[in-house]
Amino acid sequence: MRSGPLSRRLSDGVRAGLVALVVACGSSRPAPPPPIVARAEVAGTSDAPAPWVEENTSAERVAAVRANYEKTWTILSQRTGKKPALPALRVYSTRERFLADLQDTGFSPDDVASFRRVGGAPRPMHGTLWVPPDMKLSGVCHELTHSFIEALCGDAYQRAKWLDEGFATWFERAECGAVGFAPGDPVKLADMQTDEQWSALRVANPSRVYGSAAAVVARLVARFGEAQVLQLLTALRDQDLEVGLRQVLGIDLAGVQALADEPPPPWIEAGVEAGRARAIVEDYQRTWSYLVGLAGRPVHAPQLVVYRTRERFVADMRAVGFSDSFLAMFERSSAPRPLLVAAWTAWMPPDAEPSAVCELLAQGFFDVLSGDASRRVRWLDAGFARWVAKRECPASSEARDARGVDASAAITVERIVTRFGEKKLVELIAALHDEELEPAMRKVLGVDLAGVQLDAGEAPGLFRVGP
Ligand SMILES: [Zn+2]
Repeated sequence: MRSGPLSRRLSDGVRAGLVALVVACGSSRPAPPPPIVARAEVAGTSDAPAPWVEENTSAERVAAVRANYEKTWTILSQRTGKKPALPALRVYSTRERFLADLQDTGFSPDDVASFRRVGGAPRPMHGTLWVPPDMKLSGVCHELTHSFIEALCGDAYQRAKWLDEGFATWFERAECGAVGFAPGDPVKLADMQTDEQWSALRVANPSRVYGSAAAVVARLVARFGEAQVLQLLTALRDQDLEVGLRQVLGIDLAGVQALADEPPPPWIEAGVEAGRARAIVEDYQRTWSYLVGLAGRPVHAPQLVVYRTRERFVADMRAVGFSDSFLAMFERSSAPRPLLVAAWTAWMPPDAEPSAVCELLAQGFFDVLSGDASRRVRWLDAGFARWVAKRECPASSEARDARGVDASAAITVERIVTRFGEKKLVELIAALHDEELEPAMRKVLGVDLAGVQLDAGEAPGLFRVGP
């Protein structure tokens, strides 16, 4: 099976466990998702014309761009049965020349100015796929996917932008190794429907909008299967989105929105032991629903990824963009917290204890509420993570409590909850988004740090816990 570094399929055993889990929740859901089957090895090449290449572009870059183009072409022509006219590739070494060409091709000065300001590149138009120097290789997959979407539904994608951009973004991640997903606050479907809304949002925050759209499509694919999503795109050629959704998927827009608000289906590397995967997924689901309850509003859950091998994990960390010194550390042990803008993923390497996922989620949640406050107020971040883990994941190892700093922090957090309640704790973390600790504490709790800190006399006992 060819797939990108983050493209994983659940093993049958794990899937059975997940389906059982979903059924056990007792909600009124449609039939379980269709079986996920290994895809046939893709073979063959496209008949793409030779690319135009700006001088000073490296041969490696051109070869890699072509490889991604051909891969996308081969996979999507197989799965869609379509062979849209092949756009000619133009590979640039400068953004200036790329922008000048857009202008010459008939893009309005406003559009060109927007590409200058925001970055990025247009979908294939006028028979051309533009590849500026800052386009990621997976972006080639993304843009070419738009050609297949248009082959399926004509220009109806303009009435369902979340499906158009969501499918292209989902595909580049599933098949071309792109990382990056929805950061914190999801964008609602209603705000990603038409081209006009999309353009406005794109300027506001591209990663939120693309990430939200991809998250919706990932849920649809997990629930109904990719073939049905392609069928939906085909149906849009003659039908309204609402009608197409009801006829093809048996769901309405509100149903899609409800699906989008659920955590994304986990990705589990083939060969992970089923019991381990199930334990992690259960801890993940329980902890996230608790955290969302605390927030009192929808928050996109981080993508859960469970590894069988540290090699694969390190390869993904490289794709996220970690430096060599981090990678050297990841080769031995540990994993990063979910990164909001870069990836929004809870990575579980093979040697992490299952309940570590609880701390990862708590850290991600802390970032959603507070921005980068974890760097300024480490004890509250660490204490919150330990406190959530002890509360929601009782299997969480006591050995970790032997680490005095985290344990002291967790007790301080517990003390805040006992005195002021969970909601106040969440309010305090959210207040750190714009304020320093002391003023935030005085404003939200009415006390300063000394008012909740451990007494020296209480601390020594902590260090007797564990081996
Ligand atoms: Zn796009």
